[in-house]
Amino acid sequence: MRILIQVPEGLKTRALRIAEEFERKGATVFISCEPCYGACDLRLRERDELGAEKLVHFGHEGPEIPGVEYVPLIEKIDIRDILARNLEKLHGYRTIRICASLQFCEAVFQAAEVLSTNGFEPVISTPPGLRPGQILGCDTRAAEGPCDAVLFIGSGRFHARGIGKKPVFVLDIEKGTVFEIGINERKYTVALELAKHSSVFGILVSTKPGQKKVETALEVKKVLEENGKKAFILVFDEIKKEKLMGIDVDCYVNTACPRIVEDDLGKPVVNAGDILKIFKRSNENKCDGR
Ligand code: SF4
Repeated sequence: MRILIQVPEGLKTRALRIAEEFERKGATVFISCEPCYGACDLRLRERDELGAEKLVHFGHEGPEIPGVEYVPLIEKIDIRDILARNLEKLHGYRTIRICASLQFCEAVFQAAEVLSTNGFEPVISTPPGLRPGQILGCDTRAAEGPCDAVLFIGSGRFHARGIGKKPVFVLDIEKGTVFEIGINERKYTVALELAKHSSVFGILVSTKPGQKKVETALEVKKVLEENGKKAFILVFDEIKKEKLMGIDVDCYVNTACPRIVEDDLGKPVVNAGDILKIFKRSNENKCDGR
């Protein structure tokens, strides 16, 4: 049996070992070296072009798709020491909502134990379809709801930056510490203001299976054109600044992973939903004759 395996960046050091395990079972293994950011990021075309029967996607969980197997890779770690050493950073907050990326989601219970024995009130919620406390970069339901602050367990800032207006602390597994991340709203508010006054838009579409929003792109184009703007649909596999060189627009509208608005693409980037809200509203106002 031929299989194609996909491993996220942070776990690539394990790729050869994983391949060997499959080879020992008699499989012929191809390792995808393309970036792999989420369950949405499936290399189905490569699977088919390689004649592989199955794509085995490590590090994420997703819906049932024929010819795709998700292997979540949940880490067995103990974060209690890290949290206990950093508790003073949470002083002043009482109710702490705990969340984590999939890889570290079992640690939410350890965090709850440390917090409750130290006088805090931990909260863990389980959104339908996800594990207790689990968040994705585009699904932060487990971090929402009443609390004084949010504690995210994971590595890096990718997931935590999607969490709304509460103070957000990251327990970073790799760095072994807890730090607060600032609310990153200003950059996006500025981008929205610039978008309102832009004339030429580039609508970003990714061909990654879980991010491909062609109909949304067409709707955005229509709405912008109805508002007297120019809009062009730009298609990518992975959206990168270098690929946009020479494309002369004022602003980008993102229809792919919502976290792309955090990237530096050289021009303001806003999510499609926000552009539709702004320009549909201004259309309606025009229709009312106001
Ligand atoms: S759309 Fe973005 S945040 Fe959501 S799963 Fe995919 S990579 Fe992660």
